[in-house]
Amino acid sequence: MILSERDKKHLWHPLTQHKLHPDHIAITKAKGVFLYDERGNKYIDGIASWYTCMYGHCNEYITKKVSRQMRELDHVVFAGFTHEPAVKLSEELIKILPHNQEKIFFSDNGSTSVDVAIKMALQFHFNRGHKKNKIIAFEGGFHGDTFGAMSVSGLSVYNGPFEDFLINVSRIPVPNMDNFEVVKNQFKTLLEEAEVAAFIFEPLVQGAAAMQMHSAKLLDELVALAKDYGVVTIADEVMTGFGKTGKNFASEYLNNLPDIICLSKSLTGGLVPMAITSCSSFIYSAFLSDELAKGFFHGHTYSANPIACSAALAGIELLNSKEIQDRIEKIIEAHKVFGAKIQGHPNVKEIRQLGVIFALDLNIQMERYGNLRYQLFNFFMNRGVCLRPLGNTIYVLAPFIINNDELDKIYETIEEALDTF
Ligand SMILES: *Cc1c(COP(=O)(O)O)cnc(C)c1O
Repeated sequence: MILSERDKKHLWHPLTQHKLHPDHIAITKAKGVFLYDERGNKYIDGIASWYTCMYGHCNEYITKKVSRQMRELDHVVFAGFTHEPAVKLSEELIKILPHNQEKIFFSDNGSTSVDVAIKMALQFHFNRGHKKNKIIAFEGGFHGDTFGAMSVSGLSVYNGPFEDFLINVSRIPVPNMDNFEVVKNQFKTLLEEAEVAAFIFEPLVQGAAAMQMHSAKLLDELVALAKDYGVVTIADEVMTGFGKTGKNFASEYLNNLPDIICLSKSLTGGLVPMAITSCSSFIYSAFLSDELAKGFFHGHTYSANPIACSAALAGIELLNSKEIQDRIEKIIEAHKVFGAKIQGHPNVKEIRQLGVIFALDLNIQMERYGNLRYQLFNFFMNRGVCLRPLGNTIYVLAPFIINNDELDKIYETIEEALDTF
């Protein structure tokens, strides 16, 4: 029996209604920008497997470093012990993170990096003698699926069963030129009236909200305001981190830097799961005390796994390389040219781009998760391009190593879709 049939017997896939969508494509191999399925088809991975494999699948430099690490030290508990890959990774990360970041805390995935950030913010105030019970977040944000992360994410039809158990969150609209005064006043009212512990946001690009983008200047003003009120600011850079926005981190577009930053996707170049919550020394200082209980008692069994750390180190080396930086420039340029070309197409409603993130909204009315999305997905896959439209948005976030021919193939397929749907 082929894999996709055997799959059906025991597996339960994430984010899936199995009754409606029983079929899963079996991938047997991945290399560079390509995914290969069990039927012998190959696909350009136009979304870098959820923005993780930014240096290409099974990147040889990363796998070489990782296999060497595997023979050296596989794992050791990170409470009470330390090791070279973690120490070195902290040093290398601090070099490229926004300059106010000083401390690196490990966890396992994007959601846990957000939960850690929320707990840090709450305990930061608690340790200083203040009980604050509210978090402010953007409408339509996505921060993950664990309880804390789910709470600060935009209200979703999928949250129904859990609604009564979520933490206390107030949501404000994402600012734009038209609503800014209103949003700012709403934000200010919340800051004045409520016991606000933290403000969390996806800086500049809301990934799961179909790559919605907002202005750095407006976000910067909100961050500044939050700081005026002593509210901890948390930038969830799980999606935007590591070069995707044209800078290493989207927070670099801000003058007022966030106190806490969450990182995960593409941290290890897609090889293994790992996440980091970094913070400033101001946040960290509230946890230093002669009282044991003021420490941060959060930890995961695989925190700072040496193998994952070695993958992350190799990834950062690649990110810093001239080769990758040049490719990033070329992709940004190619996206611009493509955007200009299709701008006037009758089926294109809006085009957005920041760095290597490119998105276009189709001029088609539909239910957000309606059928068109699946039709488009199949249309692209049948043509050897893996793109996962979100609602009526088609977005491209390919590995940095993609070449111009491969990019052209993605663009041509999108144009064909524009002429078809
Ligand atoms: C994917 C994502 C998360 C959740 O990460 P997981 O590793 O899937 O738990 C959190 N925040 C943002 C912005 C993301 O894109």
